[in-house]
Amino acid sequence: MKPIIAANWKMNLALEDARELSSGIESVAQINSDIEVIIAPPSCFLTEVGSRLNGAALSAQTISEFESGAYTGEVSAKMIKSCNAKFTLLGHSERRHVFFETNQMIKEKLEQCKRYQITPILCVGETLEERNAGQLKTVIANQLDVVAQYDEIFYIAYEPVWAIGTGETATPEMADKAHQFIKNIIGEGIPILYGGSVNSGNIDGLLTMPNIDGALVGGASLKLDEFTKMIEIAAQIERVSNEKV
Ligand code: PEP
Repeated sequence: MKPIIAANWKMNLALEDARELSSGIESVAQINSDIEVIIAPPSCFLTEVGSRLNGAALSAQTISEFESGAYTGEVSAKMIKSCNAKFTLLGHSERRHVFFETNQMIKEKLEQCKRYQITPILCVGETLEERNAGQLKTVIANQLDVVAQYDEIFYIAYEPVWAIGTGETATPEMADKAHQFIKNIIGEGIPILYGGSVNSGNIDGLLTMPNIDGALVGGASLKLDEFTKMIEIAAQIERVSNEKV
């Protein structure tokens, strides 16, 4: 599988910045076609960003659990599909902790993904309190329960909550151990990205671990030069590993 580098812009940028950044990332994605590049802009920029992408793929940051109707402010799977989104993040820790998204809601969103052929990137990860209480495996297994019966393609992003936007990152060994645990539950062949303060200085160590298939990048994906470096580092690692086989 190609290494995957995904950008989560969260609730940042204005339209002109989104245009500029997506055009820049698209150029880098075209040159580095051995990397799967994904951009998740705010939903109001999906069409504009999507119209600039060809080498990179478009993702939403979330979708509604409802199909359509009187749900003011919500964005449906059908809507993002009509904007040419191929992916959506689901269960990002900010959705779980700030907007109280539950496993039940995520299951319903997965149904919408299935109906509209959107590939979900399911985010899982423990808080610091949970890790310190020895609950990492229980928490992750519980969050993964939503895909136990899901028979379509999906990706996983392991994002320890304590590492998101904090500048703290799991060591490559810590992240790889969690990825191995996830792989034991969901099986081989499903991409597992690592997320949590990934930047051009630490991505190399993470991507060279055997169970880490890519990165989901928040803050550092808002800077073109920084995100470009990360794609180039991933491409370099991929070239070296292809030369070895
Ligand atoms: C994220 O938003 O998924 C994320 C990992 O953010 P950051 O890279 O800023 O920690």
